[in-house]
Amino acid sequence: MITLRLNHQQHDFLQSVGDIGDLVRAALQSSAAVPPSRSNPVSRTPVSAHTSFSRTPVAAHVLEPGTGKAVEVRAGQIFRVTQIEGHQCVDLNVFALGDRRERLHCGRTRGMQGRHPGPGDVLWSNAPWERPIMAIIGGTATTDTQFPFCSRLIYSAFFGRAGRTNCQEIQNEAQREYGLDPWDIHESLNLFMHTATGPDGEPVIRRNVARPGDYIEFVALLDVLVVPNVCGDDLTNCSNFGMRPVRVTVEEGRPADLAEAGSAVQRSVVLGLPDRHEVPGARPLRRDPTYEADFPYLPLRPADVRVEVAPDLIDRFHRARNTDLYGDDEDAALRDLTMSWAIERLGAFAGNA
Ligand SMILES: [Zn+2]
Repeated sequence: MITLRLNHQQHDFLQSVGDIGDLVRAALQSSAAVPPSRSNPVSRTPVSAHTSFSRTPVAAHVLEPGTGKAVEVRAGQIFRVTQIEGHQCVDLNVFALGDRRERLHCGRTRGMQGRHPGPGDVLWSNAPWERPIMAIIGGTATTDTQFPFCSRLIYSAFFGRAGRTNCQEIQNEAQREYGLDPWDIHESLNLFMHTATGPDGEPVIRRNVARPGDYIEFVALLDVLVVPNVCGDDLTNCSNFGMRPVRVTVEEGRPADLAEAGSAVQRSVVLGLPDRHEVPGARPLRRDPTYEADFPYLPLRPADVRVEVAPDLIDRFHRARNTDLYGDDEDAALRDLTMSWAIERLGAFAGNA
């Protein structure tokens, strides 16, 4: 016997593809032994030398799967997202606290900084402001600006599933704390999302390579409301077929941090930023003191499946399981083998494996 450890959402999806026992056995039967060692494409060395010095803490939150949190970050403060268990994609929205109409513009950021902004780059806001609102000053993480947030549409269109965790509705609930409406959600900066170019030049999502302790940190260039959320996708390789908690902190920036942020802004333009014009009718963001978080589709319930498998399939599993990614976590490795096989059969996300 072997146990496939799932949550109820994953169980419901697999059951819609076929008999779960048959899926596990077929996935193991078709699995190929992996080479003994592969290189990790992500550097584990912190990019910013300043991260070894402690800063004055302002706020700290652990974001549980299926949740997000709106966090105020004042100009000059550091916003940091850190992996606890690894493997986790995090979506990030950003709004100007002084005017909710100004927000992160992922397309402009992609155009100005490339598809994968990292340390030394800045995040740009929408027109008519179009200015750097945060600077990335350190991190060991990949980012992506190409893929839109996962939404009810994605799970319905590609997986035939409705009523399950998704970044759209998690963001909606988190930003509600500051009176932002569902239509205020904007394209997310995808933190820890590992993307590459597919055979036809199209962007594809690869397995998540974030390890415990991997992080990314920003300096706020104006007072902002940042809204990170644990990506609601537990069906694909985006977060390696699971959802795991992440840590979010706000700290006071030190002079060295502000200098790095200033350098990033300087590098972001060649000949200077346009003159600032006041945009009348500012709509400041304020916290709703009556807000109580009520994230949809929670709690996630365990839905393990015991599967009868022949000894030769157990041997196959031990040869095929991805120890580079999952170490000795056999549950995660079996979930990966089974769910990626099922998705491939479904043809939904064939290009992203
Ligand atoms: Zn998502």
